[in-house]
Amino acid sequence: MMSEYLRVCRVCGLEAWTEEDLEQFKKDKGSRYGRDTICKKCFNEQQRLNKRKGGKYHEKQMATHRKWVKENPDKVNQKAHRYYNRHKDKMEFKERCRSYNRKTRIFVIEKMGGKCVKCGFSDWRALQIDHINGGGKKEIETKWKSSHKLYRYIRDAPIEEIKKEYQLLCANCNCIKRYEPKENFIRRRNKT
Ligand SMILES: [Zn+2]
Ligand SMILES: [Zn+2]
Repeated sequence: MMSEYLRVCRVCGLEAWTEEDLEQFKKDKGSRYGRDTICKKCFNEQQRLNKRKGGKYHEKQMATHRKWVKENPDKVNQKAHRYYNRHKDKMEFKERCRSYNRKTRIFVIEKMGGKCVKCGFSDWRALQIDHINGGGKKEIETKWKSSHKLYRYIRDAPIEEIKKEYQLLCANCNCIKRYEPKENFIRRRNKT
């Protein structure tokens, strides 16, 4: 019978008295009994904390993650769908989506100048993304599927590109624009 433990975890104080107990400790070739003075559980917890925001390995972890995201777009999509389906009915999730979409919208509006290009109205609640050459509703339905996706596209694309196609209009100016001849002409032509 041994009178002293072989290893003790420096974090939680777990003691290893037998070979079998040692299994619970992190391997470390250079140390006594080939084990570190930390148990696997505490080590994993430390790693977890280090990978979190502000942790030692956070940057490294994020870089690895970004690389994975880039290389596995299908898996990212599947994951997002599964997450969405699991959470879509929860109040908290809905609230988070709303606030995320609102933040994106405000950011996009500021990026595009923050005011109506026709009259200068600047309350973001009534500002809209206008397609300079018309056909905006159709484009959202076919290309973007939802207006949020258009906002996200504008958020990430270079401003010079965006300004070729989109502009900011207030709700009033946007309504009035529909009566201007050019857009009406394009609409009628698209219908036939
Ligand atoms: Zn421990
Ligand atoms: Zn206006």
